[in-house]
Amino acid sequence: MRLTILGATSPVPGPGEANPGYLLETNGERWLLDCGSGVISRLQRYVPLSQLNGCLITHFHPDHIADLWTLSFGLGRLFLAGQREERFPIYVPPGYATVFWELTDRVGGFSSLFRSFLDLTEYRPHSTWLLGRTVAEFYPTGHPLAAHAIRLEGDRSLCYSGDATLHGELVAAAAHVDLLLCEAGAPDAAQAEETHHLTATMAAQVAAEAGVGELALTHFLSGEDRQAKVHEAARLFSGRCRAVREDDVIALA
Ligand SMILES: [Zn+2]
Repeated sequence: MRLTILGATSPVPGPGEANPGYLLETNGERWLLDCGSGVISRLQRYVPLSQLNGCLITHFHPDHIADLWTLSFGLGRLFLAGQREERFPIYVPPGYATVFWELTDRVGGFSSLFRSFLDLTEYRPHSTWLLGRTVAEFYPTGHPLAAHAIRLEGDRSLCYSGDATLHGELVAAAAHVDLLLCEAGAPDAAQAEETHHLTATMAAQVAAEAGVGELALTHFLSGEDRQAKVHEAARLFSGRCRAVREDDVIALA
C-alpha cells in the first residue's frame, strides 16, 4: 500500500500546494481520496487519469471537492477519444449525488454529458463496499455536510479522517489500522470546537485510542509549522508520527 500526498493544505494552498487530495495505491488499484483545488494537476504527475480506478469523497466542503469538475472534464476527454471505456465511480456522502448533479447542471448544463461516463454512488454510514479488490467502510465524523471517515483495507489498512471531530466515530473507523491519515486543522481546542475540526493533540488521542500503527497529520494552513504539530501529537501517541506535505509518499511494506 502506497499513499501519495497530492494536497495537504487548506483552505488556501500556497504556490505549488493543493487542497486535500491523496492517491492510494493498493492491490494494483489506484484510488483518489478527496479532490480539492489543485489535486488533478498534481495527480497527473503520478498517474494518468486513464489508470485511475475511482474517487472517494469524505464530504462536500469546497476544499475537498473543487476539482471534481476538473476531473470530470479530464475523464470526458478520455471517453470521447476512446481512451477509456470503463465508467468512472465516485462515492459521495448521503444526499450529495443529487447536489453534484444540480451544481453540474447549473454551471453549464454538463450533467447529461457527465452521466454518460460517471457513476455517482451515495454511501451510507457504516456501509461496506468492495471496490475492485479494496474494501471501503464509511463512518460519520461529526463535521458538517455528512462528513465521513473512510477505512480502506487492501494489502494493508488505512483510515483517512476527512475532516473530523471527537464527537463522531473516528476511533471506530481507525481501529488497529496500519496508517491513520488524520486532519489536524485546528490550532487549539476552542477553535476545534467552533470549526468542527481536530487539533494535533486530538488526532493523537484518536490514534492512541484506536491503536493504529502510524499517524500522519494533514490539513494544515499554508506555511504552518508542521514540526510543531508532530511534537504536539508525540505527547499522546507513542508510535511513528509525521506531518505530511505535498509530494510526500508513505509506503507501507
Ligand atoms: Zn477541509
